[in-house]
Amino acid sequence: MPDNAKLDWKTVAEETTKLLSELLQLDTTNPPGNEKIAADYLQGLLSQEGIESQILESAPGRSNLIARLKGRQPGKRLMLLSHTDVVPVNDPDQWKYPPFSGVVAEGYVWGRGALDMKSMTATETMVMLLFKRLKLDFAGELILAAVADEEQGSSYGGNWLVQNHPDLMRSDYVLNEGGGMPLQIGEQVFYTVDTTEKGLWWVRLRFKGAAGHASVPHQDNAIAKSARLIDRLAGHQFPKQIAPAVQEFFVRVGQALGPQGVRAAQVITSDNQQVDLKSLLAGTPLDANLVYAFTHTTCSPTMIRAGVKENVIPARCEFVLDFRFVPGYSREQIEETIEQLAGELAAELEIETIQHHPASESPISDPFYQIIEETVRQEIPGAQAVPYLLTGATDSRFMRQLGAAAYGFSPLSTQMSLSERTKLVHSANERIDIGSLKLGVKLLYTIARRALQVV
Ligand SMILES: [Zn+2]
Repeated sequence: MPDNAKLDWKTVAEETTKLLSELLQLDTTNPPGNEKIAADYLQGLLSQEGIESQILESAPGRSNLIARLKGRQPGKRLMLLSHTDVVPVNDPDQWKYPPFSGVVAEGYVWGRGALDMKSMTATETMVMLLFKRLKLDFAGELILAAVADEEQGSSYGGNWLVQNHPDLMRSDYVLNEGGGMPLQIGEQVFYTVDTTEKGLWWVRLRFKGAAGHASVPHQDNAIAKSARLIDRLAGHQFPKQIAPAVQEFFVRVGQALGPQGVRAAQVITSDNQQVDLKSLLAGTPLDANLVYAFTHTTCSPTMIRAGVKENVIPARCEFVLDFRFVPGYSREQIEETIEQLAGELAAELEIETIQHHPASESPISDPFYQIIEETVRQEIPGAQAVPYLLTGATDSRFMRQLGAAAYGFSPLSTQMSLSERTKLVHSANERIDIGSLKLGVKLLYTIARRALQVV
């Protein structure tokens, strides 16, 4: 087994902290992105240590950085993937420290992107520096990819790279954001590994109707027709569908919860379509809405627009629905359901796709997943990894298109609770504790050593 004893992890963590602090001082708010400043910074850092890198510009200022280290023998290609853009700051006066200060205080590094996801850019860059400095003898290739535009759909980042430079992006294994959350379940701490991401379909639906004076109502009211369909769709239960990762998640978590948990896991993953999740999960730390989203295609109405005046019946009403579907389900199946539920209104309904991408997954039987599991078991006493489904999406989906086994694993310490952390992502006072950086760099380094068979 690899011997990490030679490394002084305290010093490594300090260097990672400094690296993150400097990255957070670079304002890569997307839009507009301007990831160039982050790519240039990383390129400078890498070249100081003799690591060459490429910068690929998808548009002016939209830089993607790729660096690679080749091993002495052929082997697997491991990509350490991150995005360098961050979401906008809407409430600068709510921040205790300025959002682009990168201040290190109170045991945290503060700034927009500290959690999502410059911390992983920092730990991954550090892993590459360690490989180079220690002159490790390994097989295959270690690839660092710090890409643009993840927060706005990846058209200038991950998706663009996979479409335009597939040879540079092709990898066997990928580590990315999305997992690494410690979940305390019963006596057990589980570290989530995102193996599966739901598909997405954002769709705009429109009804036309007869305009008129509101004092003389009629039946052809575009708002009333929209309301009928929205209500039917939002209340509709799509068939249950259990992804392999979800099955495994509930089996393991159920066991950790004892007899009630085992029973709940059986019911959740059974064919039974009519389960009262609220009462089934009462007293457990599992959230009924989240468990429902893990196991079903969902529909959330998110926008609606109609009318210009209080007393005028509008000629049209349009609304947006956000559908998320598990692997094995498709947009076409959702379209059929919409048509059925629209019933008498179906012929009048106009449908326009805003964005669509399929669900994606990497198997838990893959050797790389096994390496992540083994590393968690050995490096975090009493903890184990568990596969997880992400209801959102990351750049992992593009890498899976290229055939990579891609996993979301950005390990965090137990210092912050999951709910606290969830509140901070994309919000004021985003920060990461230094313990998480230390754990993250150590685990990623250990995983990379195993995957690349360091001798
Ligand atoms: Zn992110």
